[in-house]
Amino acid sequence: MIKRRDRIDRKFALTMQRKVILQELRRSKTHPTADEIFAMVRCRLPKVSLGTVYRNLEKMSVEGMIRKIKGSGSKKRFDATIENHYHIRCINCGKFEDLHGIRFLDLESLGKELKGYKVKGYNLELMGICPHCFNKNKRSSK
Ligand SMILES: [Zn+2]
Ligand SMILES: [Zn+2]
Repeated sequence: MIKRRDRIDRKFALTMQRKVILQELRRSKTHPTADEIFAMVRCRLPKVSLGTVYRNLEKMSVEGMIRKIKGSGSKKRFDATIENHYHIRCINCGKFEDLHGIRFLDLESLGKELKGYKVKGYNLELMGICPHCFNKNKRSSK
């Protein structure tokens, strides 16, 4: 009897963790890393461990609930927006933003097969200098 309740409690905790992770990720527009998500989640679930958050993030991205972004040379980031969209990263401050409504590449025109691969999607990350860094630079060089 006690064992059964234990299991239910654990299951409840698991769904709760996922819910909080998803809510925090949706609220954030910065495409946080696992460490950053952990910090946000811990405010609401003080008992949660980094490992738990990490495992949940991995599972949720495999299940397609969230997106995992593997940037060039940068840390893995997570995104609650699962629709196709592109990212732009500031090479100075690391700011990472969504780019919406821009058509870069048409998957249809690429063909559904490349080198024998069935193409399922693509990941494009643009790099630049954000307006904030650009203006700061302009001011300091005067
Ligand atoms: Zn910047
Ligand atoms: Zn995004």
